[in-house]
Amino acid sequence: MRAARETWITIHPRFSHVAFDPEQVYEISLSPAEGVRGQMGAAKEEHLLLKPENGDLRFPLQIEGEQEYVVFLQAADRRIAEFRLYALEEDLFARRPYKGDFHMHTCYSDGKESPAYLTAACRKIGMDFMAITDHARYYPSLEAIEAFKDAPVDLRIYPGEEVHPPNNRVHIVNFGGSFSINELFHSDQYLAEVRAIAASQEIRVEGGSLDESARYPYASCVWCFEKIREAGGLGIFCHPYWYSGRAYDVPVALTDLLFEHQPYDALELIGGYHLHEVESNTLQVARYHDERAKGKSIPVVGVSDSHGCEAGNLFGWYYTIAFSPSLDLPDLIASIKDLYSVAVEALPNEAARAYGPFRLVRYAQFLMREIFPLHDEYCLEEGRLMLAYAAGERECAADLRRLQGRVAGLYKRLWAEA
Ligand SMILES: [Zn+2]
Ligand SMILES: [Zn+2]
Repeated sequence: MRAARETWITIHPRFSHVAFDPEQVYEISLSPAEGVRGQMGAAKEEHLLLKPENGDLRFPLQIEGEQEYVVFLQAADRRIAEFRLYALEEDLFARRPYKGDFHMHTCYSDGKESPAYLTAACRKIGMDFMAITDHARYYPSLEAIEAFKDAPVDLRIYPGEEVHPPNNRVHIVNFGGSFSINELFHSDQYLAEVRAIAASQEIRVEGGSLDESARYPYASCVWCFEKIREAGGLGIFCHPYWYSGRAYDVPVALTDLLFEHQPYDALELIGGYHLHEVESNTLQVARYHDERAKGKSIPVVGVSDSHGCEAGNLFGWYYTIAFSPSLDLPDLIASIKDLYSVAVEALPNEAARAYGPFRLVRYAQFLMREIFPLHDEYCLEEGRLMLAYAAGERECAADLRRLQGRVAGLYKRLWAEA
């Protein structure tokens, strides 16, 4: 619901065993999780006494400030139910939370499954949008789009690739770009333009000029990120603290330069690290906080970097929540760039944790507890049908059509639109 505005809340029993007794008076207790603005004492609970109208309980509520509200429902001194409400400022209320993973590999590089299989598997675990990003290959992502082009699915499937510039160790994800960056490396233009960037003043660091050894790879990164933007994509600086055997895969001098000048669009804050590597995510989060403390704005994403969705590793462990007006690519990219996203770590048998700006993390934790379990169930049904469809059972298209719009319908029911 919107903060600072009166909103009518409806408690609607959907099953007979929880139906309200029309003659019973019910008590609603309301508590703000953060208390009342400007008051240091414990927040006073508000109490309302209500009788059901047409089977529902309805009451007006106004919440000052963005926060969670706890609602207890009682009848004759017995607690019947507990609900959670969340009040949002206008900018966040106008957006909807969407889950996405856009760094994943298929059998066309070093992953296991085909693009169509991986795509259906993404819907099964609750993704609203995704992109396949094979190493140096763009076409697998197009194959995923092609596989479902005639199927009525709500999952939004976008193009992507992991970009590996020659003689540059930095990994870059091109999410959503309308053409391949990897395919441009064969041209003479690439080297000429990178040399021109390397020679420019822009990449001089404080206290002197850049070391010759870092000049080319840094310029190469700048070139890649510019090309991705030209393609209408989001350029992601991948796994900066990936420890490959005996050293960080990317020399820290180069990582420092990328953090300092920020040629990228978004940072892979939470990357696809196996359990023995999660320390790298800890370092990325610590570095992010240090850079933020210097006053930098850093758009963040979380991605699984999965190399097989049935292997039990990485797939579904890490993802992004984008707070976006829609699932259209330009909206998603703009929302991430405008700092409306968090990176999520959801390791097996552990509580999910969101990372990013405080305000969004607080909201994301509420969503993961209260809303996404419902959302994910709808996705699971669709994902199963998508898998059957991809396996050749074309008659599943009719079932998919019947299920279309369910997540949107859930959001419509839960958001208290005026
Ligand atoms: Zn990589
Ligand atoms: Zn990768």
